[in-house]
Amino acid sequence: MKCTFCDENAQYRDRRREQYVCLKHARLEVVAADEGSDGKALRVRRATPADRDIIAALALYFWDETTVECFDREYDLPHLPAFLIGEGNEIMGLLSYAVEDDALNIVTLNILPQVQGRGGGKALLEAAMAEAQRRSLTRLIVSTTNDDLPALYLYQRFGFRISEVLPGRLVEHHGGEEAGFADIPVRDEIRLEKAVTDVR
Ligand SMILES: [Zn+2]
Repeated sequence: MKCTFCDENAQYRDRRREQYVCLKHARLEVVAADEGSDGKALRVRRATPADRDIIAALALYFWDETTVECFDREYDLPHLPAFLIGEGNEIMGLLSYAVEDDALNIVTLNILPQVQGRGGGKALLEAAMAEAQRRSLTRLIVSTTNDDLPALYLYQRFGFRISEVLPGRLVEHHGGEEAGFADIPVRDEIRLEKAVTDVR
């Protein structure tokens, strides 16, 4: 799905006007808490090796590449364990993770704009939390960037706290400032974590 205003892939959905937008053409708007989620809940399941192609396709859609760097490491998304979310047989989003020492590291969490606003992010985070409990891990960790206000919103709403800020980390990585969400320059890596015992 393309952005309403340009030829980039749409990353977000404007729920009021039913427009689909890329990072550059997305803006934030405050809405009342009672707006809630719309539509019926999406289904979450664990990815299998047969899902590698769809995971690679989602990674290319959102990131233009199948590798992601965070916490000073590079991850190959099609080969990471993941939870998938969708409707019927159609996969519409994913949460990929890596287990590191006592932590479950959420390497990526992306949901196609067509099904945003239906509680999919929370459902994927709940699946990750259950997995961390099952493995007796003590923390969920995630890394995002200063511009990614929707991600900072989602994670903090779920109970994550900022644990570390690395100013300028992405400028070093990209070799300059790139435009991120709503054209905000991508500069800093922001790391968050949530204790596994701290279940809401
Ligand atoms: Zn656009």
